[in-house]
Amino acid sequence: MSNLTFTMVKPEAVEAGNAGAILNKIEKSGFRIVALKKVLLTKERAGEFYEVHKERPFYAELVDYMSSGPIIAALLEKDNAVLDFRELIGATDPSVAAKGTIRAEFAESKAKNAVHGSDSDDNANIEADFHFTNGERF
Ligand code: ATP
Ligand code: MG
Repeated sequence: MSNLTFTMVKPEAVEAGNAGAILNKIEKSGFRIVALKKVLLTKERAGEFYEVHKERPFYAELVDYMSSGPIIAALLEKDNAVLDFRELIGATDPSVAAKGTIRAEFAESKAKNAVHGSDSDDNANIEADFHFTNGERF
């Protein structure tokens, strides 16, 4: 069944000029871009997005990083989108991410790991609503 996942190309990957290559890899892997935008998250918005990690030791670093430069947010459609996208991006830590994955190719570190991917259908919908109105989805 066709469903949705949400991604962000993170600030260091946008800054490095890797957004086009990453989006190309995503499309070539069978995902359809439903919505797309480049946006600079305020600290407050980044903090809200990653609120589930509020108690983790890296939360402040994560919020600073995700608001340090523009991100590219995208809503993606494919059969089995959430799980297939997690497979395409690879492990959180690029040093253990499988060869050929986006993080293995483009991530700098466990913190600056190039892309975000939703971890469930429910979170994909919450994250999509956080970034996109219905009128921005095609
Ligand atoms: P994302 O949610 O961004 O797709 P993920 O699901 O692979 O990543 P999470 O555990 O949800 O990993 O962590 C969210 C983000 O927090 C990571 O992508 C990374 O940028 C950052 N992060 C996670 N663990 C650490 C850590 N130990 N030190 C620094 N940053 C971290
Ligand atoms: Mg996560």
